[in-house]
Amino acid sequence: MKRIYLSSPHMGEKEEVYIKEAFDTNWIAPLGPHVNAFEEELATYIDKPYAVTLSSGTAAIHLALKAVGVTKGDIVFCSTLTFAASCNPICYEGAIPVFIDSEPGSFNMSPHALQKALEDYTPKAVIVVNLYGQSADMDEIVAICNLHNVPIIEDAAESLGATYKGRKSGTMGTIGIYSFNGNKIITTSGGGALVCDEEETMKKVKFWATQAKEPERYYHHKEIGYNYRMSNICAGIGRGQLEVLEERIAKKKEIYQLYQSSFKDIEEIEMAPIYTKGESNYWLSVMTLQKGIGVKPLDVILALEAHNIESRNVWKPMHLQPVYADCAFYNHYEEGISVAEEWFNQGVCLPSDTKMTCEEQLRVIQIIRGLLGAVEQDLCI
Ligand SMILES: *Cc1c(COP(=O)(O)O)cnc(C)c1O
Repeated sequence: MKRIYLSSPHMGEKEEVYIKEAFDTNWIAPLGPHVNAFEEELATYIDKPYAVTLSSGTAAIHLALKAVGVTKGDIVFCSTLTFAASCNPICYEGAIPVFIDSEPGSFNMSPHALQKALEDYTPKAVIVVNLYGQSADMDEIVAICNLHNVPIIEDAAESLGATYKGRKSGTMGTIGIYSFNGNKIITTSGGGALVCDEEETMKKVKFWATQAKEPERYYHHKEIGYNYRMSNICAGIGRGQLEVLEERIAKKKEIYQLYQSSFKDIEEIEMAPIYTKGESNYWLSVMTLQKGIGVKPLDVILALEAHNIESRNVWKPMHLQPVYADCAFYNHYEEGISVAEEWFNQGVCLPSDTKMTCEEQLRVIQIIRGLLGAVEQDLCI
């Protein structure tokens, strides 16, 4: 049986055209016309003055932290329910992460837990993650952070194209970042972007990303730099991908809705709620299993794997990671298990691949229904 993926690269028609153009003009460099065009097109799409394309989303978070002035010994808050790339760059700069819980019914940062943490610390920045394609409650979070004068880095690696009250995910913080890694809603094979309002920030980020070369005729350096720019070939792929982003979002939404309607009659399964203050990009469809039943996320994952179908646990929260064991954590609740840990314990990320056919998705659904002892259903699309 052909493997069904969680979320694999899905090329449109223009990517190869743009790559060929790069070859034909010999623009095989970490700069070039596709880089400039992709930056402009991305900035236009999200309606932000500046976008800087980079080698990865992680690189974008790293430079965002530098841009807001994070240095050694500073405290930086970060959502606990996320991928390690959200917070690892805090440690690259020798700063100290403090982790914040999710809010009930959502993957994303709890404004209440954030407020509690702000009573104890004055952070240099807050990294707010928009997980699985859904925006955090940005109005609440921005209001709290403004009150304390703390800049926000919006990690929208997974949520390009999602909206919150009409604004695009990634545009509501001081700085926003996106990822174009192979598993994301659109990909450049590997890559990322940083978006901001200030020309000065954009220039500084480009400077750091190109080895911090001072404008002299010889090589002159006053700061440590990085090799973080996106290649002209990758940017060509990105331009083609941006043209099919809306199509990908529409397909991801259909995938979510088919899961939702197919599991409606099963009490033990709930689809993760889609927030109502905007549109999700439905990057991954997440289901949760009722607590206390015999079937656990791992059972679902193994049952699917036996049929060559990829699924995953929800991200393991950062405050539960051995490498971050010494970091402070703020639970949404006064006591007991945190919201983020519940997601990890009960959640499964289901195949959400836009190349998956409806028939393939129905196979996934029947396997899960079977596991829960639900009768086979004539599912219609
Ligand atoms: C993928 C991802 C990143 C990192 O992006 P890369 O391009 O893989 O470096 C950061 N944060 C989140 C939430 C992600 O899912």
